[in-house]
Amino acid sequence: MRDNSARWLAPGDPESISVALATRFSQVYNYDPEGVWFAPGRANLNGEHIDFHGGRCLPMALRHGTYVAAAPRTDGVLRLRTLDPSLDTGIVEIHDAASSPVPPEVPSWTTYVSGVLWAMAELKDEHPELQLRGGTGADVLIRSTLPIGGGLSSSASLECAAALAFVAMGTPLGAENHGDDLTRALTDSLRAVLAQVCIRAEVEVVGAGTGGLDQTTSLRAAEGKLVSLDCRDFTVKRTDISFLLRDYRFLAVDTGQPHQLADGRFSARRAESEAAAAVLGVDRLRDALPEKPKKADVELKLEEFDSALEAGADLGEVDAGGCRRRLKHALTEMLRSEKIHKILNGDAHGVDNTADLVGDLMSAGHTSMKECAEVSFTLADQVVDAVVQAGASGARLIGGGFGGSVLVLVPRSRMEDITTAASRLSPDVRFLEVVPSPAARAV
Ligand code: ADP
Repeated sequence: MRDNSARWLAPGDPESISVALATRFSQVYNYDPEGVWFAPGRANLNGEHIDFHGGRCLPMALRHGTYVAAAPRTDGVLRLRTLDPSLDTGIVEIHDAASSPVPPEVPSWTTYVSGVLWAMAELKDEHPELQLRGGTGADVLIRSTLPIGGGLSSSASLECAAALAFVAMGTPLGAENHGDDLTRALTDSLRAVLAQVCIRAEVEVVGAGTGGLDQTTSLRAAEGKLVSLDCRDFTVKRTDISFLLRDYRFLAVDTGQPHQLADGRFSARRAESEAAAAVLGVDRLRDALPEKPKKADVELKLEEFDSALEAGADLGEVDAGGCRRRLKHALTEMLRSEKIHKILNGDAHGVDNTADLVGDLMSAGHTSMKECAEVSFTLADQVVDAVVQAGASGARLIGGGFGGSVLVLVPRSRMEDITTAASRLSPDVRFLEVVPSPAARAV
């Protein structure tokens, strides 16, 4: 058996990372930061490409994520530096970021932070405790323990860590609460508001089409829990899955092939599914299904779509075949989420049975990502096949696709076989243990 230990990406010890980052901040900016804030990445058990259609997503927060060390400025200037070697070009300065978050010629990664400052400044009327003081800026240093572009939400975790830093440094809530007190003072409803802030930053400033799954998970997840997120209204139910994790583990296999969501392919898939929704007469595809959807409801909607096309429904520029496949992915993905939600929240008839049922639904989800959403790629398909052959209960591509990571449900006794099988496929494959972890917090 070959030694795969070098391929594991450790989350690191938050305290040590925080101390090292604060020291580095002092070296970069020549004074001490006010604090360090952390927001986790996420792995999604089911519910890809359906958050923006109001579907149910089943994410959990990771131990890995983004750390932000920061100190406030009162001149509205944002100075940013990332320690990620592939993105670091030294300090980047943005003047008046709260009103002009995208000045010409700044590196695109900076907009994930300046966008949050802008979106927080937009939050004028609701929630006075989160209102940003005029002139708020910051010096910021960023370090991530996630693969970047690996489908595990490094981008959303950067936004959410930045949001917490801005709350701490520039709002009445932050003025009254420090460190752990701030983490506690951020109630679930305030966290939901911050998630909306980060979503606005990503959609309106970064220009990527997020439906809110990533930001909601990073800000509202809970330790040991799977988040059951109803994206119709962003209500969250947190399900204890420790019973499953006694004998099984979730493993994220980062294929080492990063994706670029903002490059148009993700938007094209989304546009096709939205065209399908229009044919069915709804804004969001979740509204095409009843409250408790069944397989027959999905079949009925696919037939309704086919009949509408035969009757001459106009799809404009959108390809009809692609549109139907996107529709099938979204509806079956919604059904899988409802099934897994029910399995994990019902009377589990034994851990092995639960793992088999969930694993089968994960693998069915991958087939749908490949054949219907058409966002998979060769290495992801190979990883899924290899790990299932090596004894995984199920596996699927997660994230937006076109690169990224595969989530695997692993019987504990098979971990080594499974990582060995995946390692054989590419020298770039890396592993992260997915341990359901707490949401964004002060470190
Ligand atoms: P992911 O699945 O990792 O979220 P995305 O392509 O959506 O992938 O986002 C990756 C982008 O987020 C990077 O290209 C960069 O712009 C930004 N980003 C993420 N982490 C960092 C970081 N530590 N430092 C700077 N930018 C980051």
